[in-house]
Amino acid sequence: MIVAVDGPAASGKGTIAKAIARKFELPYMDTGLLYRAAALNLLQSGGDPESEFAAARACDISQIDFDDPELKSEGVGGVASRISGYPLVRNALLERQRHFAARPGGAVLDGRDIGTVIAPDADVKLFVTATPEVRANRRFEELKRMGLHVTFDDVLIDIRARDARDQGRETAPLVMAEDAVLLDTTTLGVEAAIAEAIAAVERSTAANDA
Ligand code: C5P
Repeated sequence: MIVAVDGPAASGKGTIAKAIARKFELPYMDTGLLYRAAALNLLQSGGDPESEFAAARACDISQIDFDDPELKSEGVGGVASRISGYPLVRNALLERQRHFAARPGGAVLDGRDIGTVIAPDADVKLFVTATPEVRANRRFEELKRMGLHVTFDDVLIDIRARDARDQGRETAPLVMAEDAVLLDTTTLGVEAAIAEAIAAVERSTAANDA
């Protein structure tokens, strides 16, 4: 079973995708980490994020330590969001994701274009979203817990900018696949969102089997 979980930044899709992977004993890939790894590589090599070619070269991420906490930083996320609009970058990272999705027994992947581009034939597609304010608040609380000094307004501006870039790019924009199940987590706590997601997977697989 292939499960595609897409949605905007801080929608809760990562938490939900991990919970689905645990529940159905499937391997999990956070595809945002690939874009973040390319961004970190680019920054560390002094490359210019304005150059599509430099960004594409940075997609050789074989040397990146995926446990490096720097990957999760806002700075790296911002550069990841910028370079992810380049077709050469998306192309360079495509095969790795498709290969993971095609693992025998299936997989869970989360990102922006899993249900539309990476695994359009996924058995289950979820589109996880929440209002920009709620997503900004979650990210704000998370950053505060990490000891970072940020304001809610700055985080909201950043979330809106990321949404605009992810939705507005020409190559693989963030859109809900026609056959995806919409899961709005605006008013849901973590446990409730996970329970709804698992129920949606069970409903979709039951419908596919019928
Ligand atoms: O999900 P995360 O915030 O870690 O992703 C970092 C950036 O990588 C996103 O802002 C998005 O622009 C990009 N991304 C993408 N396609 C994916 C996953 C992430 O364009 N499948």
